[in-house]
Amino acid sequence: MDPASRARLVELDKRHVWHPYTPMGRYRAEVEPLVVARAEGARLFDADGRSYLDGNSSWWVATLGHGHPRLVAALVRQATSLGHVSLAGVTHEPAVRLAEELAAVAPGRLPHVFYSDDGSTAVEAALKMALGVWRNEGRPERRRVVALDGAFHGDTLGAASLGGIDVFHRGWSGGVVECVRVPVPNAEGANAGTANAGDGNAGDGNAGAANAGPANAGGAGDAAGGYRAAVEAMRGLIRDGADTIAAVVVEPLLQGAAGMRVYPAAYLRELARVCREHDVLLIADEVFTGYGRTGTMWACEQAGIEPDILCLAKGFSGGLLPMAATLASERVFGAFLGEPQRALWHGHSFTGNPLGASVAREVLAIYREERIVEQAQPKARRIREAFARMGQLCGVAAWRALGMMGCVELASGGGYLGRGGWCVYDEARARGAYLRPLGDTVYVAPPINIADADLEELLGIVEASLTAVLGQVP
Ligand code: PMP
Repeated sequence: MDPASRARLVELDKRHVWHPYTPMGRYRAEVEPLVVARAEGARLFDADGRSYLDGNSSWWVATLGHGHPRLVAALVRQATSLGHVSLAGVTHEPAVRLAEELAAVAPGRLPHVFYSDDGSTAVEAALKMALGVWRNEGRPERRRVVALDGAFHGDTLGAASLGGIDVFHRGWSGGVVECVRVPVPNAEGANAGTANAGDGNAGDGNAGAANAGPANAGGAGDAAGGYRAAVEAMRGLIRDGADTIAAVVVEPLLQGAAGMRVYPAAYLRELARVCREHDVLLIADEVFTGYGRTGTMWACEQAGIEPDILCLAKGFSGGLLPMAATLASERVFGAFLGEPQRALWHGHSFTGNPLGASVAREVLAIYREERIVEQAQPKARRIREAFARMGQLCGVAAWRALGMMGCVELASGGGYLGRGGWCVYDEARARGAYLRPLGDTVYVAPPINIADADLEELLGIVEASLTAVLGQVP
């Protein structure tokens, strides 16, 4: 694209496009946006022909990279026969086969699949399912939903009611759904808590193992104490409040938007056990953690838990189309049978869209046939080594790694609105990588199948950019 056309696009963009999560005044005055013309594999190509490694899989969706030839072919094949039809009193092969395949691969027994459009709608459907179970079972007072500190489950009003991140949720939190919050221990608690509990914690030792950096390491005693306190608070809240609690909702093991916070599998396992003990439904939001991000296909696997409801989106359709699903157990589904007023009166124009469903089936086939999660293990180790090293830089408060995610938290301490991460973003962009930070948390969550050479280049750019910003000689 010639410079004049590019400049014109940016001018029109600033006149008409309202960007997400963006202070628009500052954007219009100061930001020179990337103008992406095409993308392939782990790379975005700007209108001026420069390439940028996609350090966050374009908001965590392109888990198989951009333009995967098999996904594009599946989309084109489907588009030539059936682009869309409603799913009310109608069915079609892509939606049916996909539901069967999802039920087979899901963590636990979740044979019923409700389709929607994105992570937020997957969570909305999950909330209506959970609240509807109790209403239909004659216990409408069970309507509170427990969420973790720092939770992020989407931006629609119901999902935002569960949110625990001030910048996104102030004004919405607790608005539609009555939400109760429980503390969540950090990753060192995993080790300390595991050891104290005498728990084998099999999932914690694999390629997805979590680590935390020096600033978090308050010593094993502190970590164990913090872990125990969090578990006790969670147990007490659920035990004492079960009569009015419908469900607990979690981002299993890894809280993405909170700043890539990792918590122990042991905590998740105990949470699931307490839910069972008190007949509280467990909703696993694997919108970010699913499709291999944490080192296993589902984060739930590492804790050996089976949720009652599972939310899937993002990697679900490989970043090609917006589509999502909410999977439900027999018990949840069964509560909506009987008189018509018991049904789940909920849907979306694009529910079960054949294009999305065909691509989502192909995503699952690629994971199966190309052993994507297994192939990622050495890559996850490389991410971990690189971030462990970066964690030692002066000016870095903590580092974490879990599966195909690695991050550092800058010591500048500005939180989500901090500018430190954006300085690293500018440096990385100049070096050929797109790294959208979460405030002062700089992270990578690249495509799970990123080529080794691209991963090395990406990690090199992160380290060089970080070093430059922290004022150190590489
Ligand atoms: N749940 C989680 C765990 C998420 O990380 C997100 C988005 N980052 C959502 C739900 C909402 O997904 P979407 O943006 O597709 O609505």
